[in-house]
Amino acid sequence: MELRKHGITQPNVLGAIERVPREAFVPDTFRDQAYENIAIPIGRGQTISQPAVVAFMTRELEVGPRMKVLEIGTGSGYQAAVLSKLCRRLYSIERHKDLLAAAEDKFRMLRMNNITAKVGDGTKGWTEQAPFERIIVTAAATREVPKSLLEQLAPGGIMIAPMGATTRDQHLYKIQQDAVGEIETKKLWPVRFVPLIGDEEI
Ligand code: SAM
Repeated sequence: MELRKHGITQPNVLGAIERVPREAFVPDTFRDQAYENIAIPIGRGQTISQPAVVAFMTRELEVGPRMKVLEIGTGSGYQAAVLSKLCRRLYSIERHKDLLAAAEDKFRMLRMNNITAKVGDGTKGWTEQAPFERIIVTAAATREVPKSLLEQLAPGGIMIAPMGATTRDQHLYKIQQDAVGEIETKKLWPVRFVPLIGDEEI
C-alpha cells in the first residue's frame, strides 16, 4: 500500500517485493521496523536501502524474465533477492566478505537458487559472466560509472547507478545503451547512498 502511494504500480515489481520477506535481511534488533520505509544499518557502516528506493530502482531497471542481471554492492542481499524474482539469473558482487557470507545464508535459506554472488571489487564488473542485459549499482560513484561496467552492458542494456560528489548531491541515473552502442544518460531523483569504493572508481 505504501509503495503504491509512492507511485509504484507495476504488478511485477510489487509482486517481487511482496514475495521477499524484508525482515529476513535486517538485523534482529531492527526486525520490528523491517516494513517501515527507512534505510536500516546492516553492519560495516553499510545500509539496506529504503523499500521505496529498492522499488524505484527495480522499476527503472525494466527487468525481464530472460535477463541476466549484475548487481554491485550485495549488502544485505535484499535488492538482489527482489531482482531474482524478475530475472533469469542474478549476479552480485560485495567487497565485504562477512556481509556477503550473511547474504548468501539468506539466499540459501529462502531457496533463491538463481543468485550467484562473490566477494570482489565490483567496479571491475564480472568479466567471465558478461555481458549483462541489466546492471544495478547500489553504492555511489563520484563522477562517472566505472568503464568496465559500461563495457559489460549488453547492446540495448540498461544500467541504474547513483552518482554524486557528496552525499548531499547524489542522484540516481539511468544509462541506456542502444543497439549500436550509443549511450543515453537520464538523471532521475536525488538519493543518498554509501560510496562505491574500488580500483575503477574515479
Ligand atoms: N543492495 C544492498 C541491499 O539490498 O542491502 C544495499 C547496498 S549498500 C547501500 C552498498 C554496498 O556496496 C555495501 O555493502 C558496500 O560494501 C558495497 N560496495 C561498495 N563499493 C563496492 C565495490 N567496489 N564492490 C562491491 N561492493 C561494493
